[in-house]
Amino acid sequence: MISTNSKDLLAMPISDFIISSEKVAHVQSGNSAEHALLVLTRTGYSSIPVLDLKYRLQGLLSMKMITESILGLEHIEYEKLPDIKVDSIMEKEIAVLKLTDTFQRALDLVINHAFLCVVDEEGTFAGILTRRVILKQLKKYIYQKD
Ligand code: AMP
Repeated sequence: MISTNSKDLLAMPISDFIISSEKVAHVQSGNSAEHALLVLTRTGYSSIPVLDLKYRLQGLLSMKMITESILGLEHIEYEKLPDIKVDSIMEKEIAVLKLTDTFQRALDLVINHAFLCVVDEEGTFAGILTRRVILKQLKKYIYQKD
């Protein structure tokens, strides 16, 4: 059975918990794989959002996608990096949250994703919700303390 407190948490809008877009490292779909490799390496994140020039969410890019795009039969073809565009190697089929979604929907999705991108009603990128933040909130509710 779900307790009253848990019901309150599950019904909460995710907007209170997101890391807002200006604090999120991202790349643009027209950027080169070389630029994206630099961003991923410098930030230390395993995967980051891909946006278009109008800040609309296009997909996700990870280090693995970059490495796979330059994997030759015998060696890694680093010289190809400047000519590969991010939108040709990014993952386009991604789970997305809306700003108005509830904590419950986010909880279901973070089981399989370390973080989720959040968009507004026009598809403009609003930020991300991480598994870390969701777990912190859950812990707070379980122990009933900060
Ligand atoms: P964390 O909760 O810090 O362990 O982050 C989990 C994952 O969320 C990271 O590996 C990144 O893929 C993504 N992430 C977290 N914070 C940011 C950020 N500020 N900018 C871009 N991606 C982020």
